[in-house]
Amino acid sequence: MANENFDECVSFLIDDGLFVGRIARLENVLKTIIHKHGYVKNVSAALSETTALAVLLANALKFEGLFTLQLQGNGPVSTVVVDVTSDGSIRACANYDKAHLEKAFALRKNEGEIEATPHLLGNGTLAFTIDDGKNNYHQGVVDLQGKTLTECALRYFKQSEQIETMLKLFVDIPSDDEGSWRAGGILLQRIPNIGGKNVALEDIPELKNEAEILLNSLKQEEIFDENLSLPEILHRLYHANNLVLTKENKYQFKCRCSREKLLKTLRGFSENELSSMLDENSKITATCNFCSETYAFTIPEILKKLN
Ligand SMILES: [Zn+2]
Repeated sequence: MANENFDECVSFLIDDGLFVGRIARLENVLKTIIHKHGYVKNVSAALSETTALAVLLANALKFEGLFTLQLQGNGPVSTVVVDVTSDGSIRACANYDKAHLEKAFALRKNEGEIEATPHLLGNGTLAFTIDDGKNNYHQGVVDLQGKTLTECALRYFKQSEQIETMLKLFVDIPSDDEGSWRAGGILLQRIPNIGGKNVALEDIPELKNEAEILLNSLKQEEIFDENLSLPEILHRLYHANNLVLTKENKYQFKCRCSREKLLKTLRGFSENELSSMLDENSKITATCNFCSETYAFTIPEILKKLN
């Protein structure tokens, strides 16, 4: 049964708006994505963690449209892509080399250990883009350097945005094949010149220290406790810090692929190129990376003039 307390992100303020925060956790979205692809355990872990980070980042940036977080590297997992739309749709996929992954798997020190996401990706980048649908793009990129995905993301905010950021990510690995993957996280930022106007300058380091200690006190069993809502978890953490909840966003799995979009892409090829793509049934088939939906077209259908 779907747990209604999951697949949500709550935005909040503490310390008179000095820090803006987000807390998120996902279950059903991940279940759908992982089920569609049947990814192996460590790929599912990397995908779950990246999806939680994408939701936190998408909510930290004011935008309407599409937010995409992409990890790319030369390791056994070559890409992880997560799309989050401002109306609450998520889709994600990963590409990996099975033989490469098994080789890395055999070299692990501990049985049952799940490698950290940057380790699976190897040398590469973490990049995000925002597409508002009106041809306005914003992009951020940072090298995938760090022991954990959290460290990589924090490097981005430190280097590129110079925004003080605190972040903690969680992944709950199911004990058997029937169990659910869960991922979540909490992010706090101090956005200069926005909130906290009534906070005395000399109090800021102390407040930051306290906010960070409280953020790091959040435990895995707490964030994944299905009897606690996200506002209840926040209340436990920050009830003494002038906590104000500002927004709640719900998420669901939804792919944006369509027959029409694929037709549009295929119409960019010449008739000769299309002929070379035909399969034994005289069809051109394309499978969506995100949702595994397969679409089949005939050449006359592709070449048909619109209207
Ligand atoms: Zn799709």
